[in-house]
Amino acid sequence: MPVEQTYYCRDCGGIMDIKYDYSAPFAKLAAAKPDTSMPGIWKYRELLPVRDPANMVSLGEGDTPLLAVPRVAGHWDLDLNLMIKAEMLNPSGSFKDRPTAVGVSAARENGFEKVVLCSSGNASASAAAYAARAGMECIVFIPAGTDINKVVQAQAYGSRVFCVEGPFSNAFRMAVESAGRYGWANVTSTFMNPFTVEGDKTPAYEFYSQLQGDLPDYILIPISAGPLLVGMYKGFMELMAMGLTERVPALVGVQARACEPIVRAIERGAGEVKSRDGTERTKAGRQSDPQTAYDADGTLTLSIIRRTGGMAVSLDEDEIREATSVVERMSGLYSEPSGAISVGAAAKLFRMGALPAGSRVACMVTGHGFKFSGRNPEQPPLVADLEDLEKVL
Ligand SMILES: *Cc1c(COP(=O)(O)O)cnc(C)c1O
Repeated sequence: MPVEQTYYCRDCGGIMDIKYDYSAPFAKLAAAKPDTSMPGIWKYRELLPVRDPANMVSLGEGDTPLLAVPRVAGHWDLDLNLMIKAEMLNPSGSFKDRPTAVGVSAARENGFEKVVLCSSGNASASAAAYAARAGMECIVFIPAGTDINKVVQAQAYGSRVFCVEGPFSNAFRMAVESAGRYGWANVTSTFMNPFTVEGDKTPAYEFYSQLQGDLPDYILIPISAGPLLVGMYKGFMELMAMGLTERVPALVGVQARACEPIVRAIERGAGEVKSRDGTERTKAGRQSDPQTAYDADGTLTLSIIRRTGGMAVSLDEDEIREATSVVERMSGLYSEPSGAISVGAAAKLFRMGALPAGSRVACMVTGHGFKFSGRNPEQPPLVADLEDLEKVL
């Protein structure tokens, strides 16, 4: 049956999900033994919604290192078996390349020539990169007032960027409406495009393969509305459906204090996430998303966190700054603050007693340090000879 580009359910308006036949032997094989002739996430193509290899757009995304980081744990005195999944090493510098690779490939397979999205950050760079790779046009809507440094990368790849007056939800609506009117594929990184979320599953398969099936107890994930977290949950559930694992790691959502609707919903014991008006300024700009355009997304994420026995936690600006610096100095991974936030959360949760001693904890570090323009460079001391050097050493 041909696949159609569909967003929300035509009957109930709900979020769409894609199903596979997990009993098929090829699917089992796909997760356990990746097709190494394919690049990046496409090793798992039997579990992705693109059929013709000619349509699989790849820049080598995925396959990111999973690194034990004992110096990070040691620095904070954490009795944890701590790991970092280095997602900043994806081709455009963030994990967004996973959902985008699938979204752009599915768009190509389904006959689209242009992609559109609303984003003020990494998703725009990613979509622009994959569109360039595929020879497709990319249109980006950003809320007016967005830090222009966040779209230089998208512009560099040749996408067309437009500012939209008003809050984030206006830019979101522009993407939806222009996609409808002009027949562009909307690859906005929320739950609205069921294909992009399929790309968010792929870290689950990599954990399985990198740890020889022995999955972590907890995975800490920076989230705004949470497609990455929900996608990873689906990936783990698929491994379970294929009989490859009996256990799904507890998934922990991490947000910046300045924008923490999911954390608040967990604290209130609420069944639904309520978007908040306006956005406070945060270094972790990626999470400063009030979710005014897609409340249902946050609510889905909330329910998945609960289902895994997970939790949600937020970090304030000082904690985010410290986490970023510790990740950089103690692991050698250059990270943007919104990506390092998961590692700070491990320290915070351990001190709160929420992560038992000895747990195996993996942190998704989602974005590259090159992305972050808010650093304050330190003026290096001036030295002319060894005597000068002696004085400063
Ligand atoms: C987009 C993004 C997030 C948030 O991920 P969602 O899946 O949209 O919730 C976190 N960190 C970085 C670096 C991002 O670019």
